[in-house]
Amino acid sequence: MTGKTASRTVRLPRQGTDKRRLFREMDKARAHDVRWREGRVFSLVFDGGEDVHEVAREAYMKFFAENALNPTAFPSLRKFESEMVAMTASLLGGDEQVVGNMTSGGTESLLMTMLTAREWARAQRPEITLPEVVLPVTAHPAFDKAAHYFGMKLVRTPVRDDFRADVDAMARAITPNTIMLVGSAPSYPQGVVDPIDAIAALARERGLLCHVDACVGGMILPFVERLGYPTPAWDFRTPGVTAISVDLHKYGYAAKGASVILYRNKALRRHQLFATTDWSGGIYASPTMAGTRPGGVIAAAWAVMTYLGEEGYLTRARAVMAARDKIRAGVEAIPGLKILSDPDISVMAIASDELDVYLVADEMAVRGWHLDRQQFPPSLHMTLHYGHRDIPDAFLRDLQASVDAVRRPTPRRLMQRLLVALVAFLAGILPKSWMSWLTARASRFLGGGGGLPERRAPMYGIMGALPNRGDLKELVLDLVEGFTEPESQD
Ligand SMILES: *Cc1c(COP(=O)(O)O)cnc(C)c1O
Repeated sequence: MTGKTASRTVRLPRQGTDKRRLFREMDKARAHDVRWREGRVFSLVFDGGEDVHEVAREAYMKFFAENALNPTAFPSLRKFESEMVAMTASLLGGDEQVVGNMTSGGTESLLMTMLTAREWARAQRPEITLPEVVLPVTAHPAFDKAAHYFGMKLVRTPVRDDFRADVDAMARAITPNTIMLVGSAPSYPQGVVDPIDAIAALARERGLLCHVDACVGGMILPFVERLGYPTPAWDFRTPGVTAISVDLHKYGYAAKGASVILYRNKALRRHQLFATTDWSGGIYASPTMAGTRPGGVIAAAWAVMTYLGEEGYLTRARAVMAARDKIRAGVEAIPGLKILSDPDISVMAIASDELDVYLVADEMAVRGWHLDRQQFPPSLHMTLHYGHRDIPDAFLRDLQASVDAVRRPTPRRLMQRLLVALVAFLAGILPKSWMSWLTARASRFLGGGGGLPERRAPMYGIMGALPNRGDLKELVLDLVEGFTEPESQD
């Protein structure tokens, strides 16, 4: 029954499998995958339209087997990659000094900017043993991952009531060990752009690097600005900004595995590069984390950008922002619901002062909508892309119905509330070690069965009630381990 026994029974088949049978099995396997094509998923997939998919797919397949590890072997990939980086740099207000590299995604771009900052500090400020990076609590967890990998320290600062970075708090957090400040354009949780001009000015004044995380916003903000929406300064036109990350596989509508990390100049980027001349296999050099790099991703990203052009992206941004305006107004018209702050792009969070929004999310899931749950405060996350242009009416109708359902008390909802209250009560009276023991048992219950259940409010409620975030982390790591074990076949 458990994943552990199943993993021992799954082996490489002794003989090969008939192509038809194996593709049938693959189609069967995806039967319960989220149905993003219907516009009912709000993250994970960015849909630029059927024509864009076709262009990406065809370009991808053309260069399916090629490898960008050695750019001299495939001048084609070198052309696509360098042009793609140059196109991105000029879109983001970069001059001819701005350089960059393609990476496999936002996470790798952020890993690169953190590594570059660390190496820059080693050269410029060798007295620092534990380099510190100051960033608001809303900045992406990939920064924590980078700090974890590269032995750096993050100093998280609070945000203001509008969820934008509190620059005074950032200034107060600077120590002699600080090497970089970070702002997001926009932040993922609430879709608001931090006061980048103030953060960058502060960095400049103190001789620090300044990274702008535009992973989600970089390929839509330039067009949102052109459409006439008020857009705060955030790109290379802002003095003091030294690096920007932007994901092409989000609003660039490229195939997944495509992001760009840009630097103000070559001297800074130099700290990112790696080369060794001592290996018996020959001289080896590479600019980013990966060794072998898939040609398909590079070809698809170049093809989609060239296919769409400014006009194509502008058309898509207009449709996306129209859908956002409609959904935002509709949400705010439902008594009890609100949108957090004033989102700068089509990323926003639905919250409530009176309703349990996790219950609303459960009701929406029953109706086929997959909203991500957020915390501090509890909210439901939406990333609207071009594939969502026709959903606002249906979405708002179901959201109203979900709110109505949550307002009607049922025995199940009462039980859920009791369960969460019980955990909170136990957490108050039980010794810490007992809570850890209980949490470990609970992880089995929460991770049981394939995938996550539609009704998840009790789980989020219990997680919120846990007094010890360390327990929660162990529980989550248990889940991560579980996902790599094949499920039993029966
Ligand atoms: C998506 C995102 C990232 C991480 O990107 P991945 O492609 O998922 O690795 C980083 N920062 C922000 C603001 C994002 O939205």
